[in-house]
Amino acid sequence: MGFVAVGFCRPEKPFFFDQFCSWIAAGKHAKMAWLERNQALRQNPAGLLDGCQTVICLAYPYSSKKPCTPDGFTAARYTEPDKSDYHDRLRALAKMLARFIVDSYPGTRTRVCVDSAPILERSLAYASGMGFIGKNNMLIIPGYGSYVFLVEILTTAFLSLPKNESRENQCGSCTLCVDACPTGALEGPFSIDASKCLSYLTIEDHGAVDNHTGRRMGKCFFGCDVCQEVCPFNEGRSSFNPCIVSTEEILSMHAKDFEQKFGKTAFARAGLEKIKGNIRAIGLSSLE
Ligand code: SF4
Ligand code: SF4
Repeated sequence: MGFVAVGFCRPEKPFFFDQFCSWIAAGKHAKMAWLERNQALRQNPAGLLDGCQTVICLAYPYSSKKPCTPDGFTAARYTEPDKSDYHDRLRALAKMLARFIVDSYPGTRTRVCVDSAPILERSLAYASGMGFIGKNNMLIIPGYGSYVFLVEILTTAFLSLPKNESRENQCGSCTLCVDACPTGALEGPFSIDASKCLSYLTIEDHGAVDNHTGRRMGKCFFGCDVCQEVCPFNEGRSSFNPCIVSTEEILSMHAKDFEQKFGKTAFARAGLEKIKGNIRAIGLSSLE
């Protein structure tokens, strides 16, 4: 089905839950207020599906080719703007798998989560033995890297757990991601201030990107992959996919055209005006 890794764990209090709460308490989640809610569910994933006994964690790859425009601007890899939004694609795939599980274990129930529920997905993926958490806070699958979407299938079936391989952190003395972060959002190993992160500022934050931030964006107008690009676990996987129209075309685009062209892609989350503002911030900063 295209998944590159799978792991299984019990719906217990996830690793790193206490660190997550401390991170929220310190206000490092910027204005993402939804992360403050539903902590009881994050602590107890079984609350998401009555009778849940097993969490199946899955990783699905996104292209390592960076989407780009003919005039040399780029967007984060996960956006894959030549495909429909990953939520829809992965939900459909995971639901097929969930149906297979129900058929195999009659009388059981499942729930599919694709960024759709308050669940600490990287922690569960780690607990399931799929990989380790890098100093850039990403789940790294040894031998594959970190360019993956995470999906969970909760099931009331009691699946026996295969013995997990050790997933101890394998970063060693490397600090490439921390050193390369253009804004200092990665304040140290495993420590991120979302309010400084370009992924947050160019997608989630409703405010306009200022020129100060624009100077740190390079040519990437949507999201940021720098802390993954420099990671040796993703080595040799940096080419381009010229699949986006020129920034000139985006800047002159009307809402209807945007809806038609990108309405079903990951770009829709930020919206046309936000994207225009991001491009202008890069353009203005290059004039200074
Ligand atoms: S996504 Fe970019 S800005 Fe955010 S922590 Fe990584 S390197 Fe820094
Ligand atoms: S760049 Fe280095 S320190 Fe950062 S996650 Fe990758 S291996 Fe770990």
